[in-house]
Amino acid sequence: MTYDVLDPATEKVVRTVELADEVAADAAIERARKAFDSWRNVAPADRGRLLRRFADAVDADLENLAALEVENAGHTIGNARWEAGNVRDVLTYYSAAPERLFGQQIPVSGGIDVTFQEPLGVVGVIVPWNFPMPIAGWGFAPALAAGNTVVLKPAELTPLTAIRLGELALEAGLPPGVLEIVPGKGSVVGNRFVTHSAVRKIVFTGSTTVGKQIMAGCADQVKRVTLELGGKSANVVFADADLEKAAAQAPYGAFDNAGQDCCARSRILVERSAYDRFMELLEPAVKNFKVGDPNDPATEMGPLISKAQLERVASYAENPAFQGSAPAGPGFWFPPTVLAPPSERAAREEIFGPVVAVIPFEDEADAVRIANDSEYGLSGSIWTRDVGRAIRVGRGVEAGNLSINSNSSVRYSTPFGGYKQSGLGRELGPDALAAFTETKNIFISTED
Ligand code: NAP
Ligand code: MG
Repeated sequence: MTYDVLDPATEKVVRTVELADEVAADAAIERARKAFDSWRNVAPADRGRLLRRFADAVDADLENLAALEVENAGHTIGNARWEAGNVRDVLTYYSAAPERLFGQQIPVSGGIDVTFQEPLGVVGVIVPWNFPMPIAGWGFAPALAAGNTVVLKPAELTPLTAIRLGELALEAGLPPGVLEIVPGKGSVVGNRFVTHSAVRKIVFTGSTTVGKQIMAGCADQVKRVTLELGGKSANVVFADADLEKAAAQAPYGAFDNAGQDCCARSRILVERSAYDRFMELLEPAVKNFKVGDPNDPATEMGPLISKAQLERVASYAENPAFQGSAPAGPGFWFPPTVLAPPSERAAREEIFGPVVAVIPFEDEADAVRIANDSEYGLSGSIWTRDVGRAIRVGRGVEAGNLSINSNSSVRYSTPFGGYKQSGLGRELGPDALAAFTETKNIFISTED
């Protein structure tokens, strides 16, 4: 079976990709299982060197990877370059890890007790369409560094950069089977990763609905699972903040990647005394947000990923307070949109498009209460000049990744993940290595 990959900015077919069926998925898992026997025993320094060469290969191919992502996912060229660079950086960061997978020596009586961080085996990485490159890298880089092998399923809509990354891994000298890219349907290939007994862990990023199904499916074999799911993150703006800066940055927090971002600050909570002034500043920032040709370096927002996503997003965007502009089509375009006040549905559900809800709050306690009034808890921002308040509110908000006077969510060296229904476990930073290893304890008797 084949799939016609579309350019979401033009609706033209970019390439036709062969989709794996269950038999092909099983064959890829079997190759990864065989490769594990030798990959886990590659000397740590050599495993690190190979990952470093993979990083260098990504760097050398950066412009090509970025151009592929513009064509396949409609990302702006600026974002696509950052995303390819992020894969390089994540690989570089974890290339130092094989020689630093330290265990512990624990004081006990009658002998010596030591722990080892051992790889799990084959890891199944299931990637969504919104950030095809970074999310693939966050899965495979730490997994491979810890000595696992990987089968990776890109989203059906956006397989091209993952396929290219698989080629680059081979060119860099990673042994065949160590990183298997398996394009195919979630219900077929993704499901096979979940049910196959040789796959010892699933790393899934995507919708909370599918994440729950995957977690339930993993229960049967007590399969390890890391989940990165949806979000409805709050951008909390206090009256004492630099309002000009907060309003100028808010569109980037909400509309970057056309809002198709699990970390999108899709709710702006504004202290009531600053509400009118903030809205005055926000309106021109939204109306001037540059939407259009993703290949133009000045463009700030491209199209949505698909017709289905466009229809879904449009269904939330009734009675906007104001909107930016967007091309008419062809392509899956939707303008940056501000809802104030939002409908109950738009205030609560993950829209995954360029639609932001603005909600006033009375005081600090009210801000925390509204921010936490969500089943999600992935990220968020707090804008204030009061350091104590920033920390109090930051500690009060139930979310894994917060930033103060900033929209930033992701750094490859720091942990990333969600509270509540935004996920389970952490990616990136030191936490990810722990998540791709089992701790083994060995006691050595010193008794005569
Ligand atoms: P999705 O269905 O959760 O898909 C994510 C990944 O899981 C894709 O690779 C998909 O494969 C795969 N998958 C789907 N069903 C599966 C199953 N039963 N077993 C194993 N794998 C499976 O997300 P979507 O349908 O693309 O998007 C729907 C909504 O999810 C969005 O509107 C958004 O709200 C949310 N979403 C969130 C994130 C995030 O980063 N938090 C990312 C994407 C989407 P196929 O592509 O082949 O179906
Ligand atoms: Mg789906």
